[in-house]
Amino acid sequence: MSTEQNNTEPTFAEFGFAEPILRAVLEQGYTKPTPIQAQAMPHVMQGRDVMGAAQTGTGKTAAFVLPILQNILPMASSSASPARHPIRALVLTPTRELADQVADNAFKYAKYTDIRTAVVFGGVDMSAQTTLLRSGVELLIATPGRLLDHITQKTANLSQVQILILDEADRMLDMGFLPDLQRIISLIPAQRQTLLFSATFSPEIKKLAQSYLRTPVTVEVARQNAAADTVKQVVHMVSSADKQRAIVKVLEARTRQGLSRQCIIFTNSRLGCARLARSLERDGIKAGAIHGDKSQGERTLTLDAFKSGAIEALVATDVAARGLDIPSMPCVINHELPFNAEDFIHRIGRTGRAGSKGDAIALVDASEKRLLDDIEKLMKRKLDIQPLPEGSPSSAPSRSSSRSDAPAKMSDPFFYKPYEPSAVTKASSDTTNPEEKKVGITPARPAVGALLGGFKKK
Ligand code: AMP
Repeated sequence: MSTEQNNTEPTFAEFGFAEPILRAVLEQGYTKPTPIQAQAMPHVMQGRDVMGAAQTGTGKTAAFVLPILQNILPMASSSASPARHPIRALVLTPTRELADQVADNAFKYAKYTDIRTAVVFGGVDMSAQTTLLRSGVELLIATPGRLLDHITQKTANLSQVQILILDEADRMLDMGFLPDLQRIISLIPAQRQTLLFSATFSPEIKKLAQSYLRTPVTVEVARQNAAADTVKQVVHMVSSADKQRAIVKVLEARTRQGLSRQCIIFTNSRLGCARLARSLERDGIKAGAIHGDKSQGERTLTLDAFKSGAIEALVATDVAARGLDIPSMPCVINHELPFNAEDFIHRIGRTGRAGSKGDAIALVDASEKRLLDDIEKLMKRKLDIQPLPEGSPSSAPSRSSSRSDAPAKMSDPFFYKPYEPSAVTKASSDTTNPEEKKVGITPARPAVGALLGGFKKK
């Protein structure tokens, strides 16, 4: 296991990145590497296999994408011939959202190089992806199912892959992707570099690493199975029937305290997710649902609305628990506890990111006490059980008093600054057909180009 503690933090320039990569990094405004970057990048650049314990939100995408770009840069070619652009690095992710976000970052980091980057995932038409793959791609980001579809159709060939990255590997196993992973890995040359990133190192993950990694370096940025210290966790014991009302009370209390109402609310089922979003709407809360039954276009529209602030409560199943890059999310509410304690950590990991503060509120009924015990056992700490905030300003709970003297939104340390949609994104949101927006009939967001074939950002 790596023991580097980076007392003297290196700069990006000191890693020896080529100028086009360095330029892109600086353009992103990154001034210094995050801890996972400082620890992982030198090993990845040296071609070592790496097992990284890091959640999304820690800067892990750049931790592997930047050194990969550096390593395959000597083979980059400006030739138009597809044969000169075989898939050299493959990133596998469990969800479409994560694939999209990794690709979004990869485009930005690769934009000044000749390295072609693309993303393929399910839920959208294959033909645009096929065209793209046929024209040649060096860095491919994919979800396993859709990649296998392309392999079957012979539009993706993995015989020249030199670097394989399994991102959020624990999630891939949870989602039953092991057989798909095994099939994909069997098509990649054994002589390769393999990187595995996972929020937790469960026995299953260790087994996966033993099977596919060679003497890996282990890098860890947070305590295993720990939530960020900046997340304030509270449990409200509430009967199942009262949970929706409880959410309204929580959000009303946040408004009184001058806090943002922006929150992600996790539910366990797709049906419950859709129902809760509708009920909250009836209660006057601007809510949207994101779950596996929604088309990719619908999910994207909902996420965009949430990021722009048009939706204040994003009701989600675990499909949204990982990979959503939403800076400084102020509050996560668990409408139900997840059946798997590790999912709780992933859920609340949506808040308190990159050192910002956040509230994680769990609504727990008596039947969930056992799940709560499991979570406390995993986190090695007891969660604070508090009464629900009451309805009138005078009876607001004392816990909040330190924050309530800062009612102005901008002075609120929890204030969630919604994304500023770029001019092109705004333009594309006028597109009536959501799928059309996603596959980029209009030139829009960077990831859009990936699906269409515009893999190289200039
Ligand atoms: P990730 O964990 O890869 O999803 O990254 C989370 C967020 O951190 C993304 O918005 C990145 O653009 C951002 N980020 C990555 N590296 C750095 C860095 N060195 N400095 C500042 N922000 C960064």
